[in-house]
Amino acid sequence: LSDRLTETFRNLRKKGQLTPADVDGTVREIRRALLDADVALPVVKDFTAKVRERALGDEVNRALNPAQQVVQIVNEELIAILGGQQRRLQFAKNPPTVIMLAGLQGSGKTTFAGKLAKQLEKDGHTPLLVAADLQRPNAVNQLQVVASQAGAAIYAPEPGNGVGDPVKVAKDGVETARRQQHDIVIIDTAGRLGVDAELMKQAADIRKAVDPDEVLFVIDAMIGQDAVNTAKAFQEGVDFTGVVLSKLDGDARGGAALSVASITGRPIIFASTGEGLDDLEPFHPDRMASRILDLGDILTLIEQAQQAFDEEEAMKMAEKLATEQFTLEDFLSQMQQMRKMGSMKKMLGMLPGMGQMKQQLDDFDEREIDRTEAIIRSMTPAERRNTKLLNGSRRLRIARGSGMTVTDVNQLVQRFDQAAKMMKTVARGGTPNIPGMGPI
Ligand code: GDP
Ligand code: MG
Repeated sequence: LSDRLTETFRNLRKKGQLTPADVDGTVREIRRALLDADVALPVVKDFTAKVRERALGDEVNRALNPAQQVVQIVNEELIAILGGQQRRLQFAKNPPTVIMLAGLQGSGKTTFAGKLAKQLEKDGHTPLLVAADLQRPNAVNQLQVVASQAGAAIYAPEPGNGVGDPVKVAKDGVETARRQQHDIVIIDTAGRLGVDAELMKQAADIRKAVDPDEVLFVIDAMIGQDAVNTAKAFQEGVDFTGVVLSKLDGDARGGAALSVASITGRPIIFASTGEGLDDLEPFHPDRMASRILDLGDILTLIEQAQQAFDEEEAMKMAEKLATEQFTLEDFLSQMQQMRKMGSMKKMLGMLPGMGQMKQQLDDFDEREIDRTEAIIRSMTPAERRNTKLLNGSRRLRIARGSGMTVTDVNQLVQRFDQAAKMMKTVARGGTPNIPGMGPI
């Protein structure tokens, strides 16, 4: 299929100027590729209309390489619909954070509950899983197995009391979490094979009763064209704050992602990519965009275009370091820039005197950037500019706001202070001496 799309883009690339007919031909191929990826028809129509309008507009006419510009527009619009930036879980100001799961039977809720619990535990949280799916005889048992694999605590109703009340179980679960000081509650709920009024009401009742901080709608990426109706039904029946796309390890092209995001306007937060409890990733709109259109080498074109921009940003940052005081706000924008460039090493290679630090960053963990970002985002602008303001109570507030511990906050501030000191030395032309690393 998208061999044709690739071919279309390849032909475009040779052109200096695009005619409306070129644009129409390209748009037609994009439309076909999206339909092949199981994106819902109304979403495809919207999307191609937007791309067409932009592709016929000034930005393409003025571009040095119009074809490249069109590819970039397609990519940008896809990423925009898919939520633009990655969105993180929202934590409650006052724990426990309550996360409720909803979705059709077999969509992957129970499995996701275990995956999420495991990941949260790794991050230092103490999640409690709550078994509020009392529909299937084996559901509670399944969650118990998953919980023990994840090493997480579970609240389940007493067996043998006839059919229990899932709303009560959910409420009791949250109460138990509060009493036992779990900072996060994950409520697993029941689903049916199709949209079902009774179960939808049950989910809505649970939502009303526990007032969750997040309601995550779990949807199977393989669902195809049904994605739209299912997502709409759950949005109307229960409403949700975010989406989990499961079974992305299958051969689904991810059209469901585009349909759901576009129709509901809710962000996709996680991608579930296997049956194992470690198969969970934050959702990356940009990666999904290339998966949907199967862009492959077209993406390389885009990267070439972007590189010029990134290098310019990096130069600006290097200048700033040399002339001004380095603040946490700079630190944050530097991190965002690094994430965009995909590599911290490259960034550091551009800074004076930093080349040799690259080695130490080889095993840099991108999730560390996530954590750092969460902490800095929970600071006030004044705190970001002056870390000396950060007394104990401010640090506690920041830890709570970002879902991290005070130790995490302390470590970040310490690391930043050291980095700032080092930057200053480098800017003055001296040789920095990083504690614990020796002179570089
Ligand atoms: P629930 O009914 O919504 O709770 O769905 P389950 O969590 O019980 O999952 C249904 C089936 O899908 C199980 O066999 C899971 O092992 C499987 N499953 C769940 N998530 C994934 C995933 O991301 N990839 C794959 N390949 N299988 C999954
Ligand atoms: Mg289940």
